[in-house]
Amino acid sequence: MPDYELLKKGLQDRPELLSNYFRPGRGSGWFNHDPRAYESGRKPNIAVLVVNKGCVAKCTFCQRPTKGYRVGDMTELEEHVVYLKENHDVGFITLADENFGSDREAGIEFARIMKKHDMLWTAGGVRVDSMTRELTRTYAENNCVGMKFGVESGSQKVLDIMEKKFTVAEVAQAIKWCAEFRILAPLSIMLAMPGETSETVRETSKFIANLAFDIGKDPFTVFGGDLFYAIPFPGTPLYEYGQQLGIIGKSVDEEEAYLEGLFTAPTYKMSYVNLNGSDVKEVLFWELMVQILVRKEYARLLSSSPQAVKPVTRPASQEVAAAAHRPTRRARFSPFWAAVVRRIKTRNFAMPCLPWISNFIWRTVIGEKHFLDVSERILFPALQLFLYAEYLILRLCAIARSKDYYRYMSPALSRNRKIGDNYQALFPQRKLVSLRNFVVTNRRPSEDTTEQNRIKLLIGL
Ligand code: SF4
Repeated sequence: MPDYELLKKGLQDRPELLSNYFRPGRGSGWFNHDPRAYESGRKPNIAVLVVNKGCVAKCTFCQRPTKGYRVGDMTELEEHVVYLKENHDVGFITLADENFGSDREAGIEFARIMKKHDMLWTAGGVRVDSMTRELTRTYAENNCVGMKFGVESGSQKVLDIMEKKFTVAEVAQAIKWCAEFRILAPLSIMLAMPGETSETVRETSKFIANLAFDIGKDPFTVFGGDLFYAIPFPGTPLYEYGQQLGIIGKSVDEEEAYLEGLFTAPTYKMSYVNLNGSDVKEVLFWELMVQILVRKEYARLLSSSPQAVKPVTRPASQEVAAAAHRPTRRARFSPFWAAVVRRIKTRNFAMPCLPWISNFIWRTVIGEKHFLDVSERILFPALQLFLYAEYLILRLCAIARSKDYYRYMSPALSRNRKIGDNYQALFPQRKLVSLRNFVVTNRRPSEDTTEQNRIKLLIGL
């Protein structure tokens, strides 16, 4: 548990800065949908906790800093919660475990402690196969208001490549249970793993829209636009795959440059290294494609069977909170124009290093009804061209600053290495198309101890 008294000492003569470590619960979209956040006796602050460490799974993109799964000390947890409540006005807990709930007893005990001390809580990393309907009900009855499932994709093929070891049906079921017991469970999606194609992106979009429709919520509630691109971290099959393709670190210096860039890399397409094998124009477009297709598919579902639309079951206070989070047209446009005006006023005409075109389309234009009415055959190629122009500009900026070699989507393509194309021929004995199978098969045996140790480090042994 964090020792805030020690932290305060480090702040020397400005102990009031400690308050920066606690955000207000009512200002958080994770909590402000629940009427209990507004109770008069509720303490206002959120504290972030990590109670259990590690994860039971080995997804092929995920870097595991801890081996195995270790359950935290519940007595220590309870003492800490009392301390937080009494000393820092905490009434909300954000649990930042990587894998909450794989130990069901520990999950239930955690929930019981939260309820006992009247904390509203959310869990940040939950596997859908850790949930049952009964457990969802138990967590909800013990003050759980939000859960973040590592869903990543609505395509079974991509889930298998990632070795998520659960099915899209299990994902849908877990989200439906959460909706039933009024636990907020927005999806986050990861794009562009090897094996992703425009077809799998389309499957994911349909999955999101159908799920939103089935649980009677708008897609903005089910999917807040939480879209990531797969980034290769050392120690993962994804990273090793990049090395085997000769894309990450053809030399030690290049690998070092990649790792330096990785230190500050957001999991966004700006930092993406194209191991996918698809044309860069397609890959760049996928994040917008999901946004557009989810809206289109949801609109189609609504218009095709209006009688099937279930009434929204949220209480009025939650509706108000949700509406407050849905940006108005003006709110969507103004940050962009404010940034343009600021640049003109400050005469700052330096080349922007952020993907402005993507951001402008995503944050401002995409919600416009007429925009979505345009035929895909016209809209998609036009958007791909805009994004490609943006990509070329940003690549030029990156090349001009040689250290940023990998900073804006490595253009390296591996057209012949589309995972899944010839999978059955390569691995007839394996049922799942996992990235790990490709990587292990392509690993070169080595007599050299340094090389053997390097591989051990890579695979986390
Ligand atoms: S992605 Fe999530 S479930 Fe998979 S290994 Fe990482 S923490 Fe575990």
